[in-house]
Amino acid sequence: MSLYDVPITSLKGFGKTRAELFSKLGIHSVGELLRFYPRTYSQWGEVTPISEISNGEKYLIKARVTSAVNTVRISGGRILSKVQVADDSGVIEIVFFNNKYISTMLKYSEEYYFYGKVNRDLYGFSMTSPEFKKESDMSSSITPIYNLTSGLTNRVVIGAQKQALSMLPETMVDPLPYDILKRYDLCTLRFALENIHFPCDESSLEKARKRLVFEEMLILNLGLRLLKNKKLTETSCKMHDDFTGDFIKTLPYTLTNAQKNAIVDCVNDMKNKKSPMNRLVQGDVGCGKTVVAAAVCFNAIKNGYQAAFMAPTEILAQQHYDNLSKMFEQFSIKVDLLVGSMTKSKKDKVREKLADGEIDLIIGTHTLITDDTKFKRLGCAITDEQHRFGVEQRSKLFKKGEQPHVMVLSATPIPRTLGLIIYGDLDITCINELPPGRKTVKTMLIDTKKRHRALSFIKNELDKGRQCYIVCPLVEEGELELESAQNYAAELMLDEFRDYPVGILHGKMKAKDKEQVMNEYTAGDILVLVSTTVIEVGVDVKNASVMMIENADRFGLSQLHQLRGRVGRGEHESYCILVSDNKGEDTQKRLSTMCRTNDGFEIADEDLRLRGPGDFFGNRQHGLPQLNIADFSDVNSLVKAQEAASYILEISPDLSKMEFKGLKAMIKLLFKSLDESTMN
Ligand code: ADP
Ligand code: MG
Repeated sequence: MSLYDVPITSLKGFGKTRAELFSKLGIHSVGELLRFYPRTYSQWGEVTPISEISNGEKYLIKARVTSAVNTVRISGGRILSKVQVADDSGVIEIVFFNNKYISTMLKYSEEYYFYGKVNRDLYGFSMTSPEFKKESDMSSSITPIYNLTSGLTNRVVIGAQKQALSMLPETMVDPLPYDILKRYDLCTLRFALENIHFPCDESSLEKARKRLVFEEMLILNLGLRLLKNKKLTETSCKMHDDFTGDFIKTLPYTLTNAQKNAIVDCVNDMKNKKSPMNRLVQGDVGCGKTVVAAAVCFNAIKNGYQAAFMAPTEILAQQHYDNLSKMFEQFSIKVDLLVGSMTKSKKDKVREKLADGEIDLIIGTHTLITDDTKFKRLGCAITDEQHRFGVEQRSKLFKKGEQPHVMVLSATPIPRTLGLIIYGDLDITCINELPPGRKTVKTMLIDTKKRHRALSFIKNELDKGRQCYIVCPLVEEGELELESAQNYAAELMLDEFRDYPVGILHGKMKAKDKEQVMNEYTAGDILVLVSTTVIEVGVDVKNASVMMIENADRFGLSQLHQLRGRVGRGEHESYCILVSDNKGEDTQKRLSTMCRTNDGFEIADEDLRLRGPGDFFGNRQHGLPQLNIADFSDVNSLVKAQEAASYILEISPDLSKMEFKGLKAMIKLLFKSLDESTMN
């Protein structure tokens, strides 16, 4: 039996409450617990005699408890516990807050290690809320530190991990075959798990990490390739003809060569390949991906199939619906919209028509992939702004048809090396050209001394009838986001922009409220939109001409480029104002890249060069399954894992060989969408 099938409640001391805390961390089984690796480690270092400690520093002391624990209630219902400890050189008071168990944990006259910050007050030295351990638990001085959730202490996780490790079976099946371990000089899974949680020493930790990173990369790589192969082996919806010419000639503009090439690539996939199309169309902001998608939908529909176009937000879905309805008006093509905020009866009606085959093209959000959405003959599924969707969601849409053709659109230029990994399961077409006459967005870098002038400039634009975006100072995600965005907006509303309608958009808002604000902005009822970085990708408000970004130095170049892409979408001269007081040489150099070029790929390469791939995507924007330990900055492991994956697939293309059984199970865990049929 796998430890993934052993519920966490089978650990000693695990009741419902504790299990619930762990489930908040995504841990339900003992197997998952073992794969919940420390976030970092704390090294307590050398023991310092109490007589040698001084104010304000962190120390490790080894001392005996020389008083009873004295617990009192203080203001606000808090609990304060004090206890005196001593070594041969001196005495110090230890203070704990809000831990009512201290008196049971620290025993009189026993010796402990305490690690914490030392303060000095009128009464002498004290150490506040130190970590502590008994001598017998100090065999290794490297303590794992786990990500926690409120109500859960590191100590509890450590205890749980110890129990879990003791449950590892005597003879353990290693998912990595012996051959691979040897080839890449990797330690066994048992060694890796034991040492990632409780490392004997630095070098064992390194060995453990190397193995687990490799394993994760390998599994990711194999999973993506199996997904790709799966699509290669299945037959597709046959599309014998190319009708795109009929559509293209009705457009009010000439397509760029890059757009034409993209359409040709897709039509070729649909017409000539035995397997369904599985293509990523990547192109910079504003290059005109939507019309390429429209041409592909058109072709599928004229070949007798239904098409689906999924966008990450309702605002974008609505925008596409408006555009494509117009484009298809003169053809007898039925276009409809399906989004979460529609009433149930309306949604039901649309779903009925979809299942009947009455609708040719459906545009929508995640609602398209819920179980109750059924198609009569889905032949083509397109997702827009792909990086917002995970591999899982993509594959869900895929499953709505009989192996429909799949196309994904992405505006995030990704350096090629990374693209191959991130989109390992897709063929790639690049639209490397903007429609003619597109004005580049004039970008300038200022410091806060010039902010006032920048705001006057913006007012001037507003008076000309334009609109603007202001991305407010970046704060850590979470509680503060709301407050700081609101404060910032309030200040602008009361001061500089008191005569203009200002709207605010931040991550904590409900989808419905966000949409409302976006709609008002699109309609021109709001002129200044103050936003955290949640400004929706792909949003197309042609009248917006200024994007001002506070604390620009805190953003990655690619993110700045995305934000800048919200302006310069219409006929108006547009501007991007980057505000930063960071005069560091690197920062200035980085930000000046933005002023120098509007080319997303150039910026992406520069970003990758400056920051390394780990930071490139920011918060898991790649839509891949969540990685536990590996990250994309480790190009070395990436390359090795890729090579190992090729080697393994050569031996056993579907991993059916006995020696890969463990690997296969791990892949299934990571990619829940890969079903039996793929790997048998
Ligand atoms: P993106 O690739 O960022 O999704 P869109 O598809 O939203 O870009 O296109 C941006 C704008 O460019 C749209 O208003 C669209 O009508 C226009 N457009 C697209 N292709 C062309 C073209 N070949 N010539 C002129 N305008 C175009
Ligand atoms: Mg777009």
